[in-house]
Amino acid sequence: MIHSRGDSRPDPIPDKPRDHCGVFGIYGHPQAALLTYYGLHALQHRGQEGSGIVSSSFDPDRNRHRFHVHKDFGLVNDVFREDQVLTDVLRGNLAVGHNRYSTAGSAENKLNIQPLTVNYRGGNVAISHNGNLTNFTRLRKVLQDEGTIFQTTSDTEIILHLIARSRERDQIKQIIDALDQVEGAFSLALLTDDKLVAARDPHGWRPLAVGRLDQGYVVASETCAFDIINAEYIGEVEPGEVVVFDEEALQTGRIKSFHLRKNNTRHHFCIFEYIYFSRPDSRVFGESVDSVRRRLGKALAEEHPAGKEGEEVVVINVPDSSNTATIGYVSENNRLGKNSEFEMGLIRSHYVGRTFIQPAQDSREMKVRAKFNTVKSILKGKKVVIVDDSIVRGTTITQLVALVRKAGAEEIHVRVTSPPIRHPCHYGMDFPSEEELIANRCGGDVERVRGELGVDTLGYLSLEKLLASVPRNGGASYCTACFSGEYPTPIEAPASKDENEI
Ligand code: SF4
Repeated sequence: MIHSRGDSRPDPIPDKPRDHCGVFGIYGHPQAALLTYYGLHALQHRGQEGSGIVSSSFDPDRNRHRFHVHKDFGLVNDVFREDQVLTDVLRGNLAVGHNRYSTAGSAENKLNIQPLTVNYRGGNVAISHNGNLTNFTRLRKVLQDEGTIFQTTSDTEIILHLIARSRERDQIKQIIDALDQVEGAFSLALLTDDKLVAARDPHGWRPLAVGRLDQGYVVASETCAFDIINAEYIGEVEPGEVVVFDEEALQTGRIKSFHLRKNNTRHHFCIFEYIYFSRPDSRVFGESVDSVRRRLGKALAEEHPAGKEGEEVVVINVPDSSNTATIGYVSENNRLGKNSEFEMGLIRSHYVGRTFIQPAQDSREMKVRAKFNTVKSILKGKKVVIVDDSIVRGTTITQLVALVRKAGAEEIHVRVTSPPIRHPCHYGMDFPSEEELIANRCGGDVERVRGELGVDTLGYLSLEKLLASVPRNGGASYCTACFSGEYPTPIEAPASKDENEI
């Protein structure tokens, strides 16, 4: 087993669902690797365990293309410490990159860091994957029984084997053939010797945006990766679509597009991308995350306003994830005639890393206190409303409530811009076990959750209001399984992150 080095991996006991992964791809730019590095930097929030870039260049001496690979554990800045790696090692005008958070496959296994690569009779392929394959266990067993040797414990490797085994002659058809066999969530950036291929599963769980940069093309999980390199957003890879960026696209602007067999499946965009995962400055599923989060805040105030006639409430955000929703909440609460003031009552330190020393028994509390502090002058003697995006275990919000109470708040009300989380995600998010979720521990009884948190009132956004607040353009429909337990697909026994450790 290879052990992680460095200090950049996230808190091992987080109280939010862990972000999944960030993917990036670029075609037709002389600084492909450098721009991929910037793109990955903007996508750092989607994965902090490892990062990697694979580029492709033509070697005239050998008269063939060569792949160049650099990846390791750590944050993007840790992995790409030396400029020369981006300029001299990762040569070529096409590249793919990946930020990893392991939702399948051990986090400790260096071989699982993406992009994964393979060399087979059709040439080289590299793959960056965001999402989880739900038929991974069965497919892996079938392939192993037939003699396939796996290098990693990642579900993503299955796709490379299926490409290599395909009987199709054309490489793009081999990729489509492989993707027709896998089920579950995948937003992919694939690199062949001379093409960039972007693909999204027919349900469309994870986002994948397309942009234009000079004459070239870029794809990324979120558009914040375009802004950092001055690329222009031009659209989305549609669910069930496979898009090919090649020399013809570069010369004529004509981009080849193919459809997976199950292309007519109902869409199930992950609604949590809007609630928490994506950056508010991104456009996801074609819509501004900031706009949606404001709507969530407004809808929450409609359902659960705060403050009585003639009294003032102070509304505070939990930085940074609920900042935007809190603005929406306050504006709607005021519109409803409540006297509410938006204040920054909680201040967050951005420098609490994995190395934070916490030997004491109350280590979790200590970590929360190190991460958040209160502005006492704002909270003392006030009726305080804390707006949060989600409650998972309930440990962090309990600590925040204690901090706000200690700061002298007279009343504390908690408002949450999502319904109670009661079920695990099988499509690329990492939630704690069902038993650990506070909403489950309290049997789905909001009043019991309120009692556990020790607050005056607690209001969750209802599933109906949540669904009414997200965009519906083009008939968009959403996955809400972690709230409702209604999974859009059959779920196989999930692959353990540590099983089959190499
Ligand atoms: S289960 Fe929840 S987190 Fe997972 S894809 Fe569905 S909405 Fe997103």
